[in-house]
Amino acid sequence: MKSELGLSAFPSPGRPDLGRVRDLFPIFSEPRRKKLVYLDSASTSQKPRLVIDAEADYYRTTNASVHRGNYELSAESTQLYEQARARVAAFVNAPAPESVVYVRSTTTAINTIANGLAHRLKPGDEILLTEMEHHANLVPWIMLAKRMRLSLRYIPVTEAGDLDLSMLNTLLTRKTRVVAITHLSNVLGTIVPVAEIARTAKQFGAVVVIDAAQAIGHMPLDFQAIGADLLAFSAHKCYGPPGLGFMIGAPEILDLLEPFEGGGQMIHKVFYDDATWAPVPQKFEAGTPNSGAAIAFPAALDLLEAVGLERIRAHERDLAGYTLEKLRALPSIKILGPLDPDKRGGLVSFYDEHIHPHDLATLLDERGVAVRAGHHCAQPLHRKLGLTASARASFGIYTTRDDIDALIDALHFARSYFTR
Ligand code: PMP
Repeated sequence: MKSELGLSAFPSPGRPDLGRVRDLFPIFSEPRRKKLVYLDSASTSQKPRLVIDAEADYYRTTNASVHRGNYELSAESTQLYEQARARVAAFVNAPAPESVVYVRSTTTAINTIANGLAHRLKPGDEILLTEMEHHANLVPWIMLAKRMRLSLRYIPVTEAGDLDLSMLNTLLTRKTRVVAITHLSNVLGTIVPVAEIARTAKQFGAVVVIDAAQAIGHMPLDFQAIGADLLAFSAHKCYGPPGLGFMIGAPEILDLLEPFEGGGQMIHKVFYDDATWAPVPQKFEAGTPNSGAAIAFPAALDLLEAVGLERIRAHERDLAGYTLEKLRALPSIKILGPLDPDKRGGLVSFYDEHIHPHDLATLLDERGVAVRAGHHCAQPLHRKLGLTASARASFGIYTTRDDIDALIDALHFARSYFTR
């Protein structure tokens, strides 16, 4: 299968042949996109031909409702869907295929977890988050805290953009029921020592939830080695289709959660006045799933494994280091997050002291450079930093140093635009 995908062309060991990786992503050879410098992979990644073709092939050849029909086409579709689940379990080293719950996105996974745990919480219980969480790992807990009168506590972010883990033993108490943390900050780029935090949190008996939306596909990720109870990520951030996400958990932990969405497929028995639930993972999979996306996603995982997660991490670390070095040479640019590329993933947020990030992004776009500007769904963090917005350049396996050079040129252009 892999040689069919043209993946055997990658030398190993050694740096990925970036020219060839980019060739696998049709958008970069699309005539209208010739000038595109895509630096917004943290929002969503571009899609390789393998994934696009896998999804189209499914609709062309095997499309049918999964887990429903008593006919061959549906059985085949179901088989592919369940094989894809097992493939995701192997990719993140989850304990079993049943550890993998198909959901819509990271956002849905965390809402499912927060609501699923509600029945085990009581007023006064504490939830420990960090000051660098994305709204997806913040607002569901705020909603739950309001509803159940829980108390939210936060691991502080230091001036240097790390988490202040010296506070951990004070912040964790016998009332801490949940610790929910990002693996990689989508604003600061900070790589969080999730295994270390999970180990300490477990000593306090807390349920540990990891938001891996920015880590997945950018570095090796081993669910069992992290030692968390639950982990969430979205396929679209790691070269898969949108509308597909995952909630990962040991089956016995998933068993403890109440289902969040009711409907078809998630039930065992239904009466006019009562219902019981199907076993995990189906208990969380109400309604007709996005089977095309689920079945296409393993093609993205094939690509990631062919290139190698260690090599992808080294590539993005190199790009982060190069970006930091170039940005630091620009006097009016201020960088958010750690200045050591070993401590950060493949994204760098920054601002120009004299240009609003939205104006900056618009001017960069004139040069074909696509960056994100705004609060990146992390308003409290921006407020803490004394900002309302920042610009963010984020990378993927197809990003090159030429892309960073184009960003730097475009920043010079923006500066000259405002000073002429
Ligand atoms: N967490 C983090 C750290 C993210 O960066 C994002 C996406 N920006 C999310 C959660 C939410 O992901 P999704 O929109 O796919 O649900």
